[in-house]
Amino acid sequence: MKLDATDLRYLTTEEFRVLTAVEMGSKNHEVVPTQLISQISKLKSGGINKLLGGLAKRGLVSRVKNVKYDGYRLTYGGYDYLALRALSKRDTIAAVGNQIGVGKESDIYVVSDPEGEERVIKLHRLGRISFRAIKTKRDYLGKRRSASWMYMSRLAAQKEWAFMKILHEHGFPVPRPIDHARHCILMEFIDAYPLRQISSHPSPGTLYSTLMDIIVSFAHSGLIHGDFNEFNILIHRVTGSPIVIDFPQMVSTRHADAEWYFNRDVDCIRTFFKRRFGYESLVWPKFTSTLKEGENKRGKGEEGENGFRLDVVVAASGFGGKEQEELEKVLLILTRLCIC
Ligand code: ADP
Ligand code: MG
Repeated sequence: MKLDATDLRYLTTEEFRVLTAVEMGSKNHEVVPTQLISQISKLKSGGINKLLGGLAKRGLVSRVKNVKYDGYRLTYGGYDYLALRALSKRDTIAAVGNQIGVGKESDIYVVSDPEGEERVIKLHRLGRISFRAIKTKRDYLGKRRSASWMYMSRLAAQKEWAFMKILHEHGFPVPRPIDHARHCILMEFIDAYPLRQISSHPSPGTLYSTLMDIIVSFAHSGLIHGDFNEFNILIHRVTGSPIVIDFPQMVSTRHADAEWYFNRDVDCIRTFFKRRFGYESLVWPKFTSTLKEGENKRGKGEEGENGFRLDVVVAASGFGGKEQEELEKVLLILTRLCIC
């Protein structure tokens, strides 16, 4: 999907009101009735059809003819627009540049701030690839039969933001988070290659240890990355040091399946180093002893005495709750389907 930055400037106040009304109506309606859009936007129904037609032409909403009523759905294009507009109003972005990544569940663009400094925006797109697969498994979703993908994408962005912020504040090698809005996260641009693109390394052993140390220090802080692999580790072009990205699936070391997630992260690195660099180490972190070390480091009994349980800190920052449980369920289904 293309991001049209010029749109940011060329939407009239009325068009913007209508677009926002469609978004608001989407909270309770899969297809928002035209009449409701008119009510929310406080515009007369005569004018509204023309405005909606214009927005539909630009791909910001799409018209759905239902048996019961006609209405509109917000598209990802419209959702992108609203998020980008919010960021540009706050002056955290000024222009959108090239797309640098197409993840399975996200689009990544280089953007610039008003001073022309490069930044990266990640737009979450849950359900884009997995839509069909998850539809066939929709019983997993319980009562919420038709999961709203935009809503899920917003939850994923919220979670990623909360974790990136806390990790950055505590000195982990992650990009500096700058701003977020709806399903988007704005962060520092890292001049790096994904580890996957590196065919040889002067010292695989050192890199292996550094990466395992990161897994260990996450766990000492009560966290597991959950998708720690060659796609989500960037190697800085100048310094050669690793930077970790992609946090929507992070879990606490108190999660019921924590050990499984931890081992999977460790195994991903072992397997990759063996296959890519022919490097095998006799040592790798073990879950139980790593947690013990963490407890000892923090100071027995008194949590947070000499360090922090970041899973607790992030929960205290208001993150979590029922909504996030729902997201976790969906992410788990995607992982099980091996498409995440
Ligand atoms: P996904 O959730 O879709 O896997 P990621 O967060 O892993 O998305 O990002 C996908 C790709 O985008 C990365 O592999 C990397 O090439 C690029 N990328 C992501 N964040 C940054 C950043 N801050 N700086 C530079 N490149 C980035
Ligand atoms: Mg990724």
